[in-house]
Amino acid sequence: MPDKTILTGLSKTQLEEFAESLGEKKFRGRQLFNWIYVRKAATFAEMSDLGKSLRQRLEETADLGCLQVREKSVSTKSGSVKYLFELAGGHLIESVYIPEADRRTLCVSSQAGCALNCAFCATGALGFKRDLHTGEIVDQVIQVEREIAEPLTNIVFMGMGEPFLNYEAAIAAAALMNDADGLAIGHRHIVISTVGITPAIRRYADEMQPYRLAISLHAAIESKRKKLVPISRRYGLTELMEAIRYYAKKLRRRPTFEYVLLAGVNDGEEDARALRQLVEHVPCKVNLIPYNPAVPGYQRPSDEQVQRFADWLAPLQAPVSVRWSKGTDIAAACGQLAGSVVHRSAPSS
Ligand code: SF4
Repeated sequence: MPDKTILTGLSKTQLEEFAESLGEKKFRGRQLFNWIYVRKAATFAEMSDLGKSLRQRLEETADLGCLQVREKSVSTKSGSVKYLFELAGGHLIESVYIPEADRRTLCVSSQAGCALNCAFCATGALGFKRDLHTGEIVDQVIQVEREIAEPLTNIVFMGMGEPFLNYEAAIAAAALMNDADGLAIGHRHIVISTVGITPAIRRYADEMQPYRLAISLHAAIESKRKKLVPISRRYGLTELMEAIRYYAKKLRRRPTFEYVLLAGVNDGEEDARALRQLVEHVPCKVNLIPYNPAVPGYQRPSDEQVQRFADWLAPLQAPVSVRWSKGTDIAAACGQLAGSVVHRSAPSS
């Protein structure tokens, strides 16, 4: 029997084509789009306006969701929820829901594991398993919205993986999240975060992608960055900053620099000075993220040191903020996503 078509992750046009392939009118595709992304149906049986025989054919030829919830951990401190999802084939990924007063943010994964092996990152320590396809990225949003029974307001591509190494799927997923007839999350509320894959930053700029861009910088001294973020041996700081200036100029947008503060590693005065010099001529924002210990050998600086580092950046025109991560008690904060069950049960690849 041929494989079933996974409908989650298909655009309106693709669903119209799928409907036509079943001998149906195009508008059936738009109905499917509405059931999947607006009403978030979990079964074809719920799709009451489709007619019994079409629903029967859909059961035979198509599938809806792509992910199975394997575990859910709730942070008693912050109310953040970490979801462990199983992909077809058995690999595991994580998404983190972060509720705040006026926003409901989901941090999504774009790859199972990650090949880039940043020194302080629990995901990097797992190694790369595989890219997610568009549906697997969007289904994280659908499943969480279904569960919390409210629309998410913000999406950050800061979970497992490097979205710019799975560019087409990540951008197609962002477009589906943004589609005004579907999940309808505003483009300014979707952040794609990269460690600095410079050809992809230029492509992103050339394509005038509307979503916000964040750069995980973590060090402004080249030798330190090469140790912390090994991919920067390939894409050095000069090349990275040229690509970022290209993006900022072309789209007239401010990228955000993310900087994880590691005690005694990148939190000194010379690190702050280097950071100031690196970004002072780029319209940008700077987010400081005190590290959440996830990998042996790296510690979080004291709150006083974090404040001192922020003060050293004060001469910058750019806004500087400290992001006190939520969800540290469930290992759901930045750099902590490692799919705790992965080690036990995912097939190795
Ligand atoms: S920080 Fe991001 S890019 Fe680096 S290893 Fe972790 S998931 Fe990959």
